[in-house]
This record gives sequence, structure tokens and C-alpha cells, in this order.
Amino acid sequence: MAKTILVIDDDAEYCAMMAQFLEAHGWQTLQATDGTLGFRLVLKQRPAVILCDLLMPRCNGFHLCRLVRQQPELRDTKIILSSGRDYPVDHQNALDAGADDYLVKPFVQSRILAALERLLNPPPAAPPGSASFSSPYEPPVATPPEDSPAAPGPVLIRFWGVRGSLPTPGPGTVIYGGNTTCVEVRADGEIIILDAGSGLRPLGKQLVAEFKDRPLRATLLLSHTHWDHIQGFPFFIPAYNPKNHLRVVGFEGAKEGLQTILSSQMESPYFPVSMRQMPSNIVVEELRELKFQVGPVEVLAAFANHPGICVGYRLNTSAGSIAFFPDNEPHMRLRGKTSADGAAQAQEQEGETGRRVRISQALDFAQQQDQRLIEFIRGVDVLIIDSQYDDTEYESHVGWGHGCLDDVVSLSLMAGVKRLYLFHHDPDHDDQQIAKMEQWARDLVAMHGDALHVEAAREGLEIVLPPKTADAGAPE
Ligand SMILES: [Zn+2]
Ligand SMILES: [Zn+2]
Repeated sequence: MAKTILVIDDDAEYCAMMAQFLEAHGWQTLQATDGTLGFRLVLKQRPAVILCDLLMPRCNGFHLCRLVRQQPELRDTKIILSSGRDYPVDHQNALDAGADDYLVKPFVQSRILAALERLLNPPPAAPPGSASFSSPYEPPVATPPEDSPAAPGPVLIRFWGVRGSLPTPGPGTVIYGGNTTCVEVRADGEIIILDAGSGLRPLGKQLVAEFKDRPLRATLLLSHTHWDHIQGFPFFIPAYNPKNHLRVVGFEGAKEGLQTILSSQMESPYFPVSMRQMPSNIVVEELRELKFQVGPVEVLAAFANHPGICVGYRLNTSAGSIAFFPDNEPHMRLRGKTSADGAAQAQEQEGETGRRVRISQALDFAQQQDQRLIEFIRGVDVLIIDSQYDDTEYESHVGWGHGCLDDVVSLSLMAGVKRLYLFHHDPDHDDQQIAKMEQWARDLVAMHGDALHVEAAREGLEIVLPPKTADAGAPE
């Protein structure tokens, strides 16, 4: 009797295409377009294999693996996680979460069949637990280190931390600043804080000075939980005032829930005060949906191309829109390079035709992914985005999950962005280097004959979006 495979992917078209392919190869198929529905089907139908996408709203692939592995009666169910990203840390996290294999999209069709064969009929010599990842990765090396109702009025954006990876104080960073990721947005009566890097500390001090005895209500949106995006949280003074209310919103991590990750950096011996001892009213919300509200501000989230679970946000305010992608690597050149590796492998297995198919699939996929990002940021008034490397540096950092300046400018031009802020500066870049990159970005824009405003984000920089009803004019 044909075995059953459950395909879970939020891209319904892809899901159907995969099911059709597998049916043609003798499988019975089930389909689900999100992890929650998928898990219900697993419990009810007990498929032999689950082929599950990694990045999905509501229940991501890591979470689904953990849910399945908590059910002793499902111990024989095989799980293949799939994703368009090829980061070693994701391969390892998939294994740790309980997956049996990890495949990188787009698949060479023979590879999915080979993976199924290997999982269902493992060679007898395979030692238990030595999972059969299709990718030739060694155990992962360290990843690059790395974040009251009111009438509509102007929107204020203020940068408190613009650096990636690690705080970098010193004489070389006095202009742009050395604090890690933190941006304050005041919009439609809301205080929204984007990421909690070390820049959160001075922001907290400023809020205390401003609010004095008045209670404070703020929302902290986290892009992801790499340390440079959460390390300021224990030093956020307003969190120690019982009058204050803080809503912390983000997606669950690859290994743990958001609450656990935030509180574990405050555990002894790393920090003297635990999160439980913070007396303010802190609510940690793990996001399930990619669209939600912070008061009147509509927030959209999109998955970024970065190791682990990382998102970017788009805030639609009454005075304009702001997109924030602190850590992200555009796909085009990344896929060009990885497809070359895949192509070599495909050539070995399937000859020249296989090589060509692999390259064209990889490039199509890359284009599709970049196009999604372009649509997401289309027409924003302000784009704050990872531009960590210049063109030369990027050559040796392809696949690290960070952006190259030239690609970021291209994406912004294609998306019709109005103001571009270069962000997540490399800790090795001093003021001079950042100024040079800013100039290069402006030269690129001029070469395209475009009016895009480009500026390297710096601590203390403020942007004001005037209210829509006021006289139209360029924001300050
Ligand atoms: Zn970062
Ligand atoms: Zn990161």
C-alpha cells in the first residue's frame, strides 16, 4: 500500500505542486498550508513522512518538529524540514528540534526521492541518531557574531543604536555611534521600540527623564533574538518601575520560546537580577500572525534571510510607513554562489542538464525571494536596512546573513523607497569607512538618475514624518 506523506507549506501553489510530484512517484499525499493545521492532520492521519517548510506564520517548522517529537506514538514519523536558506545553524537547529533531514529549496527532484528512500530504508550500518542530512555540512562553525490615544500628528523616528554584532565604543565611532540595534518610533500615540540592543539603555534613561512619575506604556518589537538585538533589555530602566507597562512582541526562536530566551540572558551567573524580578508589567507575546496592531499602527512582518527565525517589520502609521530589516541578506548573489556548489553536485549526479536545471532553479528562486521583499517594502517612506558590507567585503561574507550595500541600494530603487537608512554597521567600520559607504550609495543612486535619499543611520539622528493632513513636503 502506498505510504502517506504530509506536505506543509504556506505557499499553497508550491504545496500542490509538490503533492502532484510525489503522487506521480507512488505516494499518497496530504496537504496543509500552516503548521497548526498540519499538526492536527499528523495526529489524525499519522503520515509516514512530513515534509514541512521552515518559515511559516503561526507554527514554524522547528516548532512543528518539537510538537511531533513530544508525542511518543509518533516516534517513527519521519520529518524533513525544507527552506530556501542554507545556513549551517538552521541545519543543526532542525536536527536538534527533531527533524530527520533538511533540504534546501528549490529541490532537485531526485534529491527529495533520494532523501525519502534513505529515511524509509536506512542503510543497516547507519549508527542511530547520526541523522542523514543531505547537505555535506560539518557540525556548524560559529555563526558570525552578531537585536494614550492621540490625534494623528507627526511621526518621530530616533536612532539609539545602529551597530551590528557588538557594541563598539571608542574614538573611531563617535560620529555614527557604537551601540547595537535600537530605534524609537513615536506614532499615533504609541511608543514603539524596534529591537533591544545596547541602544535601549540610553533610550530608557531618556524615557525616565521624560515621563518622571507618569506611567509609561511602550511596545518593543523584536526582529530576532541574536544577542546584539536583545542585550540592552536587562538595562532598560523603565522595566524596573511597577507603574509601567511593556509589551514585548517577537517570534519564537529556533530552540526556545521568546520568554525563555529573554529571561535566560538575565539568569545567574550572567546577570544579578532575573526577569521575574522586574517589577513593571511586562507581557511577552509570541507572534503567530504576520499582521497585527500596535494601537492604531498597523504592523506587518516578513521573514528575513538571516540564520534562525528573524523578521523585518513594516509600520503603517497615519503619517507614512517605516520598514525595518536590521539583519537581512538579499538573495540574488547569495543564490548565484550557492547554486554553483549545487550545480557541481547536480552535474555529478545528473550530467550537464542537471547542472543547468539546478542553476536556473536557484536563480528563479532567488529572484522570487527578492521580489517578495521588494513588494513588502514597496513605496515606504523610510527603510532602515542591514547594509553591513561593501561590495569587496561581501565577497568573503556571502551566506553570513547580512546585506551588501550595492544590493540594498538596488532593492530600494526597485521598491520605490523614499528614504534609505544604512543600518547594522559592521563593528570593524569606523566613522570614515561608514561615510565612504554612504557616499558610494549616493553615487550609485545618482548613476541611476534617481531621487532616493540615502543616509547612514547614526545615533541621535531623528527623522520626522509630517502628518498627512499638513502641507506636503519632504520629511526632515
Ligand atoms: Zn544583528
Ligand atoms: Zn542576527
